[in-house]
Amino acid sequence: MLMHEVLVVGGGLAGLMAALKAAEKADVAVLSKVYPTRSHSGAAQGGFNAALGEDDSIEAHIFDTVKGGDYLGDQDAIEVLCSEGPEVIMELERMGVPWTRTPEGKVAQRSLGGAGFPRACFAADFSGHVVLHTLYEQVLRRRVKIYPEWYLIDLLVEGGQVAGVLAYDFPRGRLEVIRTKVVVLATGGCGRAFAKTTNAHANTGDGMAIAYRAGAILSDMEFVQFHPTTLYGTNILISEAARGEGGYLRNAYGERFMAHYAPQKMELAPRDVVSRAIFKEIKEGRGVAGRYVHLDLTHLGEAKIAERLPQVRDLAMRYAGVDPAREPVPIEPAQHYSMGGVRTDVWGMTNLPGLLAAGEVANVSVHGANRLGGNSLLETVVFGRRAGWKAAELARQEPWPSLTSSTLKRALATWDALLDAGGEEGQGRNGDSAFAIRREMTTLMTEQVGVFRTGSELEDAVRKLAQLRDRYQRLKPPGGSRPFNYALMDYLEVGYLLDLCEIIAKGALRRTESRGAHYRLDYPRRDDQNWLCHTFVRRGEKGPEFSNGPVKITRYAPQERGY
Ligand SMILES: Cc1cc2nc3c(=O)[nH]c(=O)nc-3n(C[C@H](O)[C@H](O)[C@H](O)COP(=O)(O)OP(=O)(O)OC[C@H]3O[C@@H](n4cnc5c(N)ncnc54)[C@H](O)[C@@H]3O)c2cc1C
Repeated sequence: MLMHEVLVVGGGLAGLMAALKAAEKADVAVLSKVYPTRSHSGAAQGGFNAALGEDDSIEAHIFDTVKGGDYLGDQDAIEVLCSEGPEVIMELERMGVPWTRTPEGKVAQRSLGGAGFPRACFAADFSGHVVLHTLYEQVLRRRVKIYPEWYLIDLLVEGGQVAGVLAYDFPRGRLEVIRTKVVVLATGGCGRAFAKTTNAHANTGDGMAIAYRAGAILSDMEFVQFHPTTLYGTNILISEAARGEGGYLRNAYGERFMAHYAPQKMELAPRDVVSRAIFKEIKEGRGVAGRYVHLDLTHLGEAKIAERLPQVRDLAMRYAGVDPAREPVPIEPAQHYSMGGVRTDVWGMTNLPGLLAAGEVANVSVHGANRLGGNSLLETVVFGRRAGWKAAELARQEPWPSLTSSTLKRALATWDALLDAGGEEGQGRNGDSAFAIRREMTTLMTEQVGVFRTGSELEDAVRKLAQLRDRYQRLKPPGGSRPFNYALMDYLEVGYLLDLCEIIAKGALRRTESRGAHYRLDYPRRDDQNWLCHTFVRRGEKGPEFSNGPVKITRYAPQERGY
């Protein structure tokens, strides 16, 4: 049996940062379903926020984040995020991250939405990629053991304490048990719950669902961010950096319509505000071809686009056949980020002893009801670092938790049954399949649990999700211990997503107000009287059980949010 004092699940920025820090004091391994450098973090373009500028301040960063999140963020956690930001950026700099620089040689910063100052540190529009590769080098240098293309399948919990994991070695098609004192979950978001998303195929919320099934609390799952500018049709992200560098949004009449919605911040209003504005323009007949709006970069000039936005240009040319230096780019909003996740404190601790979480899988909560551009990458490294320190400390203090053969047998029996089931590629009766269920589920989420929500559509979505779950339960698992069993993984991922979709839709139905990214057409106002609270959810006998939790307010009492 494999043993590691600390087991980090996820090889994105949060996971690698946690592994690096924990490895200073403990024996650490990283388990990742995709090769670490292929994690979604590598797709991030815009940058990492940190108040480094002479005119900027940590206080201003805190305030922008609190306001951007529509006062739902926990202000003690936001203080940690913003205060440790500059230090972490400098730490990454010393590790060798090739930041883009000012003519004087300082780390350059650009404007992203909802920020009072140019605050995002970047490397052209490959910011996530360069930091991911730098961290990966450092992790290798520390000789951290990597299990690439291994899936976390289950947490092994004994007497309420996490004592190990069940993992699936995908290339070999084998089930393995890894004993550990501490698991750090860094499995990223669940964007693939939606048909229109900027997220990688791997972002199926496995960690959130597995933790929830094991007894962890999830919070604020109904808050889903829709990014305003994704390529029309494919939903490949066009970074907010494009607007940060001066891009305009125009409707069919060539008008910069943001003047009607956010006269001061214009295109750089927060994402929830811009996404709603775009939908409204299209709905009221001012969309281009009735379906999208234009992101216009032509006035920036070819030289600036080549220097600052080379990836944006490449993506638009390859996937939309449009050169942004010459023509406007067709764009539409799509799912981008999960504000909710596994509830943690500022050290990554969850309610389950032995389980920590950091990055997009977690909800600390720094983003509240709406995340600002540049704050998520910062969150991964700030809270990944803290979770790594905490995990090492726990590994030093705590004895090895007991893992008896009865716990192991129980877990293995479930999975052996699955592997031995030997069905035909996740097929059910009448030709039903995990694939068909996934397609219906994601379309439903985009259409009825999206940017604009209503009580009746949400009720209908909850009903349809229950029907999809019934169909899923009747499928025969694909089975078969064979290498690269994608059918099995697909089947499992659809199961995780069904759990999460139910929680998102029910949470959205329950919250009868509009706040940040959660917009109810039937309750268009924020309601601090009843809803200035987190949504907590635990798994009960009959499905999710919801409750409300207090929001930590330290400095800034809620005000009306205008831009
Ligand atoms: C296109 C795009 C651009 C973005 N740009 C920005 C930006 O400019 N600024 C910003 O602040 N934020 C940005 N974001 C958001 C930000 O990139 C992510 O929130 C962040 O990178 C998430 O990092 P993470 O380490 O939590 O997870 P990820 O990078 O998603 O990594 C998740 C890891 O978990 C592993 N994993 C998942 N499930 C399992 C399992 N069952 N078993 C084993 N391993 C598993 C995966 O293999 C992967 O290694 C962007 C997001 C997208 C999609």
